[in-house]
Amino acid sequence: MGLDKYRRKRAFRETPEPRPAASAPARGSAGGPRRFVVQKHQATRLHYDLRLEHAGVLKSWAVPKGPSMDPRDKRLAIMVEDHPLAYKDFHGRIPEGEYGAGLVEIWDKGTYSTGDGLGRKDEEKLIEAALRKGHLDVRFQGKKLRGLFTLVHIKPRFGGKDNQWLLM
Ligand code: MN
Repeated sequence: MGLDKYRRKRAFRETPEPRPAASAPARGSAGGPRRFVVQKHQATRLHYDLRLEHAGVLKSWAVPKGPSMDPRDKRLAIMVEDHPLAYKDFHGRIPEGEYGAGLVEIWDKGTYSTGDGLGRKDEEKLIEAALRKGHLDVRFQGKKLRGLFTLVHIKPRFGGKDNQWLLM
């Protein structure tokens, strides 16, 4: 997806959100565990933004009700544009009139893994394939989120939206 959409939606003179690097996107940290963040975002509607580090960007979903540690819960998660890696540390107030205006707080952060025992390169391929297939298993190691979660793409029906997933 890249960061063009992220860039297009924002006026970086107005918003304190991170500006993506002008050059080719960073490949992320070369090694080490992949990071995730959940931001609580008091925009027009309160929601939570789940972001997973993958291939030099943050894959992102807006979760209206937020993630739940209750295994019975399935939470709607709407896939949104990729965000730059630096966004994982972003918190603050997006000014009135700007895209996503409102307060952003870090609700939880940590690392995640998938495909136990794979090297980083192989894991990246596995995540890529899982995102394409619409079924991604992730194990969160955060403060609030811990354990195995699944993101499942909801197949659009009757020309409906193609960006809807469930987080469970
Ligand atoms: Mn948001």
